[in-house]
Amino acid sequence: MSDIIQLLPDAVANQIAAGEVVQRPASAVKELIENAIDAGADKIRLIVKDGGKSLIQVIDNGCGMSVTDARLCFERHATSKIRKAEDLFAIRTMGFRGEALASVAAIAHVELKTRRVEDELGTRIVIEGSDVVRQEPEALPAGTSISIKNLFYNIPARRNFLKSNPVEMRHIVDEFQRMALAYPDVFFTLHSEDQELFHLPGETLKQRIVHVFGNSYNQRLVPVQEETTIINLNGFIGKPEYAKKTRGEQYFFVNNRFVKDPYLNHAVVKAYEGILPADSFPLYVLFIEIDPAKIDINVHPTKTEIKYEDERAIYAILQSAVKRSLGRYNITPTLDFNQETGFSQMISPKPLEEITPPSITFNPDYNPFEGGRSGGGRQSAAIPQQWDTLYQITQKSQGEQLDLHGSDAAHSGEHMTSGGKRPFQLHNRYIVSQIHSGFILIDQHAAHERILFEQFRQQQESRQGASQQSLFPQTVTLNGSDFQLITDLLPDIRALGFQIREFGKHTFVVEGIPADLTAGVNEREVLERLLEDYKNNQAQLKLSRHEQLARSLARHAAIKPGMVLEAGDMAELIDRLFACEMPNVSLNGKPIILTFTLRELTERFER
Ligand code: ADP
Ligand code: MG
Repeated sequence: MSDIIQLLPDAVANQIAAGEVVQRPASAVKELIENAIDAGADKIRLIVKDGGKSLIQVIDNGCGMSVTDARLCFERHATSKIRKAEDLFAIRTMGFRGEALASVAAIAHVELKTRRVEDELGTRIVIEGSDVVRQEPEALPAGTSISIKNLFYNIPARRNFLKSNPVEMRHIVDEFQRMALAYPDVFFTLHSEDQELFHLPGETLKQRIVHVFGNSYNQRLVPVQEETTIINLNGFIGKPEYAKKTRGEQYFFVNNRFVKDPYLNHAVVKAYEGILPADSFPLYVLFIEIDPAKIDINVHPTKTEIKYEDERAIYAILQSAVKRSLGRYNITPTLDFNQETGFSQMISPKPLEEITPPSITFNPDYNPFEGGRSGGGRQSAAIPQQWDTLYQITQKSQGEQLDLHGSDAAHSGEHMTSGGKRPFQLHNRYIVSQIHSGFILIDQHAAHERILFEQFRQQQESRQGASQQSLFPQTVTLNGSDFQLITDLLPDIRALGFQIREFGKHTFVVEGIPADLTAGVNEREVLERLLEDYKNNQAQLKLSRHEQLARSLARHAAIKPGMVLEAGDMAELIDRLFACEMPNVSLNGKPIILTFTLRELTERFER
């Protein structure tokens, strides 16, 4: 028998490759827009018909192509973006495989019109199923226009496989939005069936997000920024109360390339832990900038997956940056005064148009960790002196200054907060403290719980919990499975500040407990409760064991509602609360602080 292996003709090879690169009209849209970006365009127009099935056209004002390049760009592996294997490790362009146009040309009717600025005439090329049917010079504007008509016309199986026009259109809009978000300074438009769906002039990222998703998003966004040696991170995340029931508004861009990454997604979602309603998804639009040598984009033909060298470090950076933003920008639903809050019910409501939302502005430059680190070995030493500058009333006016607590108190006692006013307790439950713009009400139990929780978490990380020796060590005898559980958890329990060791069969002796536990607690009880909670939580919450332990201990150790507090204790509590990463949100996602502004008060008194 003669030899039977033959090389496939290019057109067939391209058709096969097309199956990978172009799965549906939206994939062609992505490739064309990426090419326009790579060509340096700052104006990109997308026009589609019938969900992209009859027409996809992208017009750009980029660098254009010479006559020869215009012909060559449809060849397989024809690219201007890399030349040698090493270039693969320094990719800054969207494309580099030189496959897109060859693929598209194999499965559609394609028309290319292009002109470089320096050329007098442009080139028009018409290709059908990889065959050039026309090539001629033409007077054209600088830049490139590529139309793809009748996608999959020669592969009926693929064409029939396409979904309805609205579904395909939805995919196109998704791709378009990703590109529009990735390049906010580029002017994008999208027309479908002769209607302009998007008109996005070059703008800032925040403006772009608002333009893409709608005006209401302006209040929903919190900036994230972090510069490290491994990555630079920036972008926006959504406030937790606006989280949606469907995933969707979640975008990672790595060197401006949209990627899907469940691992990094997990890092972000983890940062929201405890403050997100169940089964809801927060918005994020995050840009990661990283040395191209440290990633591999070439995992999949559509390039939406990336491998990273420092995956774990990136995860940690992402999580902590998002967490910090959530904390620093006072993410809490409490700032809109809803009708349930106390005395507002007694006031007859004003006509709707007169009601203006309370205007609180945050000082975005305020950094609670800057300055003011006084001495002392405890974590509470990191107390910001001017935490009340977090809040600033929009119109500061001396005449409006109210003195809630009598000015005498201002000069007595050393534990002052905020403008020298002593905090005081309401019903042994809440702490009232004056701030520049009004006053805040703090839930004492939730606040202390938050403080302890964050402190325990830090101790767990540094593996050194402050401990206080017990005068009379107590033994705790447990059943077999609990004994096993504690044995497993021993390193974590010690990290919290417990001094505990095995002491005979199924028995431990507790010689010291965490330094921060309220005086008079019983060692054995604390340990038993911790264990009980741990077992309960384990069933309900998907938290790490560290976090569960820290949570339980914080809950039991925190001062209770009803407990009388000294002025000094209150001042310390407030200062420590504001040194927390997330001072506003309790461990179960409820507010810790309610803010009442002077303006709100004056309005209520209708001054
Ligand atoms: P790749 O983008 O991977 O290089 P493509 O098949 O998408 O491969 O494009 C092939 C080449 O055609 C590009 O490398 C580029 O030189 C040229 N090209 C494609 N689209 C444009 C455009 N809109 N403007 C200028 N040049 C383009
Ligand atoms: Mg390309």
